[in-house]
Amino acid sequence: MLSVELDHVSVRYGRQWALRDVSVTLPAGAVGLLGPNGAGKSTLLKSLLGFVRPDEGVMRVLGLDVAAAPLQIRSRIGYMPESDSHIPGMNAVTFVAYCGELSGLPRADAMQRAHEVLYYVGLGEARYRNVETYSTGMKQRIKLAQALVHDPDLLFLDEPTNGMDPRGRDEMLELVRDIAHNKGLNLILSSHLLPDVEQTCEHVVVLDQGRIATQGPIEALKGHATRIVEVRVKGDPDTFVSALRAAGVSTHADEEGVMRVFMPDDRDAQWLFQIASQHGLQVRHLRVSVPTLEDVFAAAIANGRGTGDPDQMTNQRDAGMSDADANRRHAGLPEQIANGRPAGLPDNGDVRADT
Ligand code: ADP
Repeated sequence: MLSVELDHVSVRYGRQWALRDVSVTLPAGAVGLLGPNGAGKSTLLKSLLGFVRPDEGVMRVLGLDVAAAPLQIRSRIGYMPESDSHIPGMNAVTFVAYCGELSGLPRADAMQRAHEVLYYVGLGEARYRNVETYSTGMKQRIKLAQALVHDPDLLFLDEPTNGMDPRGRDEMLELVRDIAHNKGLNLILSSHLLPDVEQTCEHVVVLDQGRIATQGPIEALKGHATRIVEVRVKGDPDTFVSALRAAGVSTHADEEGVMRVFMPDDRDAQWLFQIASQHGLQVRHLRVSVPTLEDVFAAAIANGRGTGDPDQMTNQRDAGMSDADANRRHAGLPEQIANGRPAGLPDNGDVRADT
C-alpha cells in the first residue's frame, strides 16, 4: 500500500521557500528523508500532518487527502517531533497514557499501552519518574513511546537520534529497525545523518534546499552510482581537485583527506596518475571503492545545485552533516576510512593500485 504521496507541493514561510514543487510517492516500508539542516525535512512532515498548509500542491496520506481529512490522518499517524514536547510535572507513564487518550484510546487501554510501550523503548524502570528529570536520550525514547502508544498505521520520526550518545543512538536505531522490519510498521525517518538512514531504511529521499535531489531504493541508488575511486595525493589536494574539475570530473572528500573521485566511464585509473603527474603531484593511495550512500548524497547535491564544486559539497556536509560524532557520521564509509586509517597507504610510499 502506498502510504504517502505529494503532488507539486510548495511551502513558504514569508519569503523563504521551505519546499519547492515537491512531487514524490513514498513506498511502504522504512523511508529515509535525508538532507542537511534547513533542507525542508521537518516542513515536509509537518505538512503531511496538516500542521503547515502548503501554498501549492496536494498531499495524500494513507489514501486520504491531507487538506480534507487532517484529523483522521493524525489519528492514524505516530509523530515523534524533533523538539521536546512533554508536559512538565507529569511522570512518564501518565504522560504517555495521556497522549494515548488524546489519540482516542479509552483511559484503561491507554494506561495499559503506556506501560507496554515504555518497556519497549527501554524506560520501564524509569516510568514513574518525572519527565523533566530524564536525560536527553531518555527524552528521545519517551517521544518514541508517545508516538507508538495508539498503535498507529504510519510513523513519522523527526531526527530520532538527536543529542544521543553513541550507545543510545545504536539502541534507538535498533528500535527503529525492529519497528520497521519485525513489527512491519511503515515509517518515515527524517535525519541529517547518513548512518541513521542507512542502518534503518530501504528507500531514501534526499532533500536539498526544499527540492528532491534524488530518491529511490538505497541499494539501487548505490548500484547506479558511477565508479568511485579513492585517491590520496602527496602535495596540494586542491590542485588535484581543480585539475579533475577542469576535466569535468567531480570528487568529494572525507574528513581524512581521502578523495572519492566519480570516475567517468571513459577514464581509467591510469588517467588519474597522469593528471597527478602533470601537476607535480604523487598518488600515494588509489583504490576502486564501493559506492556508498554518502557518494550518492554528494553526487545528488552537486547535480541538484548544478555544480561539481567539491568545496561546496564538503561545506555542505560540514554544515549539515556534522553535529553528530564524526565516527558515526562516516559509518557509511568503508571501515578503513571510518577508522581514520586509509587502507592501501603503505608507509614506504609505494603506491598500491587495486584496480
Ligand atoms: P530541516 O528539517 O531539513 O532542517 P526545516 O523544514 O526545519 O528543515 O526548514 C526548512 C527551511 O524553512 C529553513 O530555511 C528554515 O529556516 C525555514 N523554516 C522552518 N520553519 C520555519 C518557521 N516556522 N518560520 C520561518 N522559517 C522557517
